[in-house]
Amino acid sequence: MASRNKIPETLERVCDEFSKLPGIGKKTASRLAFYIMNLPREEALRLSESIEALVENVRFCSKCFNITESDPCPVCSDPGRDQEVMVVVEEPNDMFAIEDIGEYHGLYHILGGAIAPLDGVEPEDLHIRELIERIREGTIREVIIATNPNAEGDVTSVYISKLLKPLGVKVTRIARGLPTGSDLEFADKTTLKKALEGRTEE
Ligand SMILES: [Zn+2]
Repeated sequence: MASRNKIPETLERVCDEFSKLPGIGKKTASRLAFYIMNLPREEALRLSESIEALVENVRFCSKCFNITESDPCPVCSDPGRDQEVMVVVEEPNDMFAIEDIGEYHGLYHILGGAIAPLDGVEPEDLHIRELIERIREGTIREVIIATNPNAEGDVTSVYISKLLKPLGVKVTRIARGLPTGSDLEFADKTTLKKALEGRTEE
C-alpha cells in the first residue's frame, strides 16, 4: 500500500498558530505559512526574533497600562509632565494618536477596551478599578475622557464619569468633532486637536 503524503507536522503547527490570530482563517493561515517558508532564511528568522523580543521586553505599565519597555512607562515617570490632568483612552494606539499632536502634556490611563456586554466585555474586564485608585490619590484635577465616538465608547464614558464625579474631580469629554462611529486612533491630527481643545464638562 502506498504511503499517504501528509502536510509536515511543523508546517501544520505554524498554520494552527496563525489561525488563532484575529481575522485570520485557515486559508490565510496556510498562505502565510507558505509565504514564510519561501522567505530568505534571515528574513524569516527576523520575524520570529521580533515576536520573541516583543514577548520578552514589552509589557504593560503598572500605572497607566500603556505598552512599554520600562515600568513605569516614560510618560508616568516623566516629572516634567502635568501631574494634574489625565486623559482616559481605550487602547494604547489612542494614546499614541494624542501624543502625536504634541499639544497634550499630562498623564494617561488606558482602559484596555470599552464596555460591550454583547461582546462579553464588562466593566470589571477593564482597568476601571485602577483608574479610581489613581484618582483617589488626590493629585488629579481633571480627567478628560477620550473613549471612541461610538456606542461602546459612550457607554464607557457615562459609566466612568458617574464613578469619578463623587471623588471631586473635574470630568470632561472630548468634543464631538470626531466622526461618529469612528476610531480615535485614525482621526487626523487637526480634528483630534480640536476635539481635545473643545472638551466639555460631563
Ligand atoms: Zn505609564
